[in-house]
Amino acid sequence: MCHDDQKSINVDDSPGFYAIDHYGFPRAGADDPVDPEEYYPAYLQSERFQRFGYHTEELRGGFHWVTSAGYDAAFVVTEAGVIAIDAPPTLGENMLAAIEEVTDLPVTHVIYSHWHSDHIGAASVFGPDVEIIAHRITKELLERFPDPKRPVPTTVFDTEFVLEVGGARLELSYKGENHCPGNIFIYAPQQKVLTAVDILSPGSATFMHCDASQNITGWYEAHAQILEYDFDFFVGGHHMHYGTREQVKLCVEYFADILEGATAAVERFGRSDALVDILAGAGDLRTFVGVENWINSMANHTTRHVLEKKTSDGRLWWERLAGVSTQTKYHAYTVLESIRLERPRPDYRLRGENPPAFQT
Ligand SMILES: [Zn+2]
Repeated sequence: MCHDDQKSINVDDSPGFYAIDHYGFPRAGADDPVDPEEYYPAYLQSERFQRFGYHTEELRGGFHWVTSAGYDAAFVVTEAGVIAIDAPPTLGENMLAAIEEVTDLPVTHVIYSHWHSDHIGAASVFGPDVEIIAHRITKELLERFPDPKRPVPTTVFDTEFVLEVGGARLELSYKGENHCPGNIFIYAPQQKVLTAVDILSPGSATFMHCDASQNITGWYEAHAQILEYDFDFFVGGHHMHYGTREQVKLCVEYFADILEGATAAVERFGRSDALVDILAGAGDLRTFVGVENWINSMANHTTRHVLEKKTSDGRLWWERLAGVSTQTKYHAYTVLESIRLERPRPDYRLRGENPPAFQT
């Protein structure tokens, strides 16, 4: 029997969930608001989705979107063959099934959005004879960390690449590191479809920590870069939805509020006297607890700012995007840390200038 219930680790009675009540991440629960009803698309009830777990539809002019609930990919049917964009393992061979629903033509080209296995970890289903196009960094990463399910690209580029196949045109562009090094924009100008993966997820607040992104300042820059494209449809790689321009702008607005709240939090709690107050409040010789509370203070300040702020149509964020109350605190932490690590610092210290004394 555990001496301290506060520190016990319990298996929750809901099957499949592991609730940790003191260590680790808190479990989201009944206190969190439900997702907006419009988040759940009608195709979830379709026979195909119920049976095979995937859905596909033509967005425009041979450009098809395909989703396996958690993941989105795409393919373009041309007069000379099919161009696949990504191949998530959750879709796997269902990606082939989706293509075979609409054409007998073979897949001739595959484009990798980025090197992550959750988006291209089934690329080997297209066989050894396809041309695989990706950024040069993606190839370097896949040579360094080989995976037979992710064949090494056969064609690479550095900044711009135009793919023209059977009357279709795709414009590939690399604008620098964002979600990860080598993550590219894929634009279909004829159909006005933009694919940019793991940056924004239409309809939702996206996954924890800005979709596990690496360069948050570059990731924010990508929001503006997305809106520079003239698109009617956006494929973001996740969350069962393609997006309209308005839905993408809503996600951009949400993350602008996170940045605003995090900037205010760093300004307020980043002052050395505020830090000393929080450290002192942790008690003698508990510096680690104090530092954690200092960072938690900034994350909590940011989260409250976003969750209590009226959005552009007067509603709150959880009324407009799915996953807001459960994900916002993780985005808040990630963004405020990126401000402290990646952006210019206000706390440059002059020679002989010391922080306020901290007495243990
Ligand atoms: Zn990724």
